[in-house]
Amino acid sequence: MELNPKHKNLRLLHDSWHVIAAILIQKLGQNPVVITVADIAQIDGNSITVQETDEGVALRLVTDAEAQRLVAEEDAKVEEQQRRLQSELPRHPDDRGGQHLTTDPNDPELKVVRQDGQQAKYLVLSEEERAKGFKRPVRCSYFHLPCGTTTTMGRALAETWARDPAFYGATFCVRCGDHYPVKEFVWEGTQQQLGT
Ligand SMILES: [Zn+2]
Repeated sequence: MELNPKHKNLRLLHDSWHVIAAILIQKLGQNPVVITVADIAQIDGNSITVQETDEGVALRLVTDAEAQRLVAEEDAKVEEQQRRLQSELPRHPDDRGGQHLTTDPNDPELKVVRQDGQQAKYLVLSEEERAKGFKRPVRCSYFHLPCGTTTTMGRALAETWARDPAFYGATFCVRCGDHYPVKEFVWEGTQQQLGT
């Protein structure tokens, strides 16, 4: 049995097994190495694992049970990595501190688009204006229907939406990396469209 068949090291083994065999013959100091039926029978129930180490590529013979455990471990690592990547997606300007927000509708940076697709600044209602009361609950996360991704924003933006639900005509999706009309979004966990 082979561990992790899609691993690039294993692909390398497939492509150049004769090179590997030559290296092993050299290392073992046995020439020729004769493989008997008994040898093959003995190897049954074992797996080769291929691992990149600091010294080189390590080939290890393990039992199938051990191999299964290693595969599960490897899968968990990949999953963890994907989870981390997901959480590193750019967030809405929000928590990058107040410097990405402005209460001035003529702020030229409202028209500047950064490399990640977000505006250099976002317009929000002043704290004074927001303090006058919310027309909707303050919600920080919304869901982009076309791609199924949730974007989270900071307090000032969320409170601006809550104070004036029609304030924004479009909003940012972290996955799509662009702004889309509010009708493409619902508030996270609800069926309620943004802007309504
Ligand atoms: Zn999207």
